[in-house]
Amino acid sequence: MIKIFDTTLRDGEQSPGFAMNIRQKLLLARQLEKLGVDVIEAGFPNASAEDFESVKLIAETCAEVEVCALARCYEKDIEAAIEALKAAAKPRIHVFIATSDIHLKHKLKISRAQAIEKAVAGVKMARSFTSRVDFSPEDGTRSDRGFLIEILSAVIQAGVDTINIPDTVGYMTPQEYGDLIGFLSKNVPGIENMIISTHCHNDLGLAVANSLAGVLQGARQIECTINGIGERAGNASLEEVVMTLKTRQDLYQTSTKVDTTQLLATSHLLSQITGHKVQANKAIVGKNAFAHGAGIHQHGMISERSTYEIMKPEDVGFSSTHIFLSKHSGRHGLDHRLNELGISLPPEKLDQVFAKFKALADKKKHIYDEDLILLSTEGEYQRKFELISLKVMSEAQQSAKIQVCFRMGDQKIDVTAEDNGPVSALYKAIATHVELPGMLTEFNIQACTPEQEALGIAYISWQEAEGILWQGHGADTDIVMAAGYAFIDMLNGRDVRQQRLNKPQI
Ligand SMILES: [Zn+2]
Repeated sequence: MIKIFDTTLRDGEQSPGFAMNIRQKLLLARQLEKLGVDVIEAGFPNASAEDFESVKLIAETCAEVEVCALARCYEKDIEAAIEALKAAAKPRIHVFIATSDIHLKHKLKISRAQAIEKAVAGVKMARSFTSRVDFSPEDGTRSDRGFLIEILSAVIQAGVDTINIPDTVGYMTPQEYGDLIGFLSKNVPGIENMIISTHCHNDLGLAVANSLAGVLQGARQIECTINGIGERAGNASLEEVVMTLKTRQDLYQTSTKVDTTQLLATSHLLSQITGHKVQANKAIVGKNAFAHGAGIHQHGMISERSTYEIMKPEDVGFSSTHIFLSKHSGRHGLDHRLNELGISLPPEKLDQVFAKFKALADKKKHIYDEDLILLSTEGEYQRKFELISLKVMSEAQQSAKIQVCFRMGDQKIDVTAEDNGPVSALYKAIATHVELPGMLTEFNIQACTPEQEALGIAYISWQEAEGILWQGHGADTDIVMAAGYAFIDMLNGRDVRQQRLNKPQI
């Protein structure tokens, strides 16, 4: 069994732009407990009063999990850690000291012998409070191996239960890091009774690979963070290490206690709190992690999931694999989606619709369900809405006024509205007229040509009610116009869907 030591609230939180307040830290800690991590490193209590309070609050609240506080080998640090962890059901203290010559000489300005003395004193003090004590030789991967043996055997004698080996600067390759873990596990006296832990930074994009190389050489704990956040390029991503261990159990022959169906929810919570989304192609939790774009893949997926899927999306918390239709999609992908929408076409009609679909997909990046309904039922429905003209009247520092003219069925409607910006004024103007409940949940403008007269494409999502989401897009050289077309597009899609639902089914 591999212990998962989560340091999102400590290593992750200290990176620029990822600071969290006490309430947010507690929220995340509760979710981490639900996720089933073994240890939450809640903070560095001596860093600030706020850090101290949040460690204390998490220690008081989370009883299922080990709550850990970080401390340098200074009395004040360890005192603060002990004080903050007093109410913890399972307190843990993580003490560290730098061991590389470059850090000893330039940062701490002490000798190797003095470093050992401080480390032993620190561990003993922490040990007087709890038997759960981690020790980290900071910059361990750039430290002299002989000296590592010396200092690690000394702290083992002083009473730690876990030895953590940080690749503080993210310099290692998997082969080297694994080799170091293997070397230490064979050469440090007493280490056979310890849990060896990894802590790898992602400066070269190798944090996950290095951590797993450590596991293959005997490490039994991985320090990691949600979404891989952390100093500089971040830390090992928790979701990636956990899912690799699970998916390749054949190779690693071990498991974790993590409830993987909580991975996506935890990732989303962190993104919401910090305002940093993960990139769409992020492994495990990215928006596209289980989306299949290429036609040949979609065909395979529909016949048998295991053709292109090594993990089940449900296992990490996605509801189901989302197949995006795009210009790379094939006939089978189209047919499958149409079937899901309740449309089944005879082969010759499917061929026609597929040809139209391909032509449309050349022009548009995303093909929405509403487009498919329009394509496959062409002639049956009329586009009810049309944007005729719009005029923006806004001055700097003032609210924007908009005058819009649009067609709704046979009616021509002229309306004006005012709001903070021209786009919100425009939407307000139209929405009140068509009795559209709900709100705008996504608004995106992308330039699709690099020229100066760039064409802007607006993508919008409108949440009408729980579970009812409409999407639209529109393109124009004027971005307010593009936003207007997107809104009208969304209204037409909604209308088509409603007409379809109202139509008697035979
Ligand atoms: Zn770190």
